[in-house]
Amino acid sequence: MIGIAVHDIAKIRSLFPALHQKVNGKPLIYFDNAATSQKPQEVIDAISEFYQTSNSNVHRGIHALSDRATRAYEGARESVRQLLNAEKTEEIIFTRGTTSGINLVASSFCQAFLSAGDEILLTQMEHHSNIVPWQIAASRTGAKIKVLPVSESGELIMEKLDDLLSDRTKIISVVHTSNSLGTVNPVKEIIKKAHKRGIPVLLDGAQAVPHRKTDVRDLDCDFFVFSAHKAFGPTGTGVLYGKEKWLNQMPPYEGGGDMIDRVTFEKTTWNVLPWKFEAGTPGIAGVVGMGAAIEFINRIGYDFIQSREKELLDTATDKISKVEGIRIVGTSKEKAGVLAFVSDRAHASDIGTLLDVQGIAIRTGHHCTQPLMDLFGVTATARASFSFYNTLEEIDNFIDALKGIMKLTS
Ligand code: PMP
Repeated sequence: MIGIAVHDIAKIRSLFPALHQKVNGKPLIYFDNAATSQKPQEVIDAISEFYQTSNSNVHRGIHALSDRATRAYEGARESVRQLLNAEKTEEIIFTRGTTSGINLVASSFCQAFLSAGDEILLTQMEHHSNIVPWQIAASRTGAKIKVLPVSESGELIMEKLDDLLSDRTKIISVVHTSNSLGTVNPVKEIIKKAHKRGIPVLLDGAQAVPHRKTDVRDLDCDFFVFSAHKAFGPTGTGVLYGKEKWLNQMPPYEGGGDMIDRVTFEKTTWNVLPWKFEAGTPGIAGVVGMGAAIEFINRIGYDFIQSREKELLDTATDKISKVEGIRIVGTSKEKAGVLAFVSDRAHASDIGTLLDVQGIAIRTGHHCTQPLMDLFGVTATARASFSFYNTLEEIDNFIDALKGIMKLTS
């Protein structure tokens, strides 16, 4: 691998083929990283090489290719374990992504531990994927959902936490880093408080893993989920980390091949962890690609990623604050690389379309957080989200384009 140690941005960008293209005749500026990151060539190669040299099903075959595929698949599990600093690979379940990880826990944990009148605590800044699965589970069990509110600046109102916890609270599920606001939540504090009352906590880490080191043992979270595609890996692949003590007590989520020990029509017994929760042929190539993405992250290093993205966010925040007609949504003290904004002069989707004409990709809409949009009294925001491979020059071009749009609409 080339000398990434010097952290030469041009060199880093050269590793991402999708960044080097024109869109609408202009060099692409990709500021939609919170939706999905671009992929380095080595991740694309790892997937392609898997299909070219090792394609086979895992676990079930005794032939050489199956052995190779199994080793690649299980090797990626060890890479994830190290990335998250989990204690055991048994605690790493491969999923389709954040959404499927939360659905698994909401369904299986609630089946095992919730009954009518119990409570699930969420927050007002959750992604729909961390709301709807709990609503489904609540409607099955008769449990109730409670919601920790968010302030005007886009921070959790922590003083309300104690009042919302009760003897009936059976689980808390909270986003580590908000995709709509960039807010980094005080999750360690939440976990400490929850554990004092014996309540487990799930962290939605979809926007955490791409940007900062995650240590599930230091956090002491009970569950942690993320999607590979936001962290330089492929789509359709993700991870559920769960403490072994919980996973062992939870029933399987899906039934099928690989998740069983012995099947008879009278009674079926389950495989051990982690395979108890991995029914059917998994997304093997995707997992291999995720393993390559983790190697890539390790080489770049979270110290660099975090400091670089802070520089990008601080610069963009400073410059956008001076653009007349724009108001930032989400001004929390602790933020990751998300800059959401609205304007009285133009609807977010018009801003997004006018930027796209200039080759600048941002996201507009409710960002799958409608309850949060309701709080801010908007139906949509425009969101620029950064990755370490973005440049200060791109931010300047984005700000110039935005100024032009504001002039046009004033
Ligand atoms: N939670 C958060 C905070 C997210 O940003 C996203 C993706 N936008 C999700 C959950 C859902 O992730 P996925 O669609 O990859 O399952």
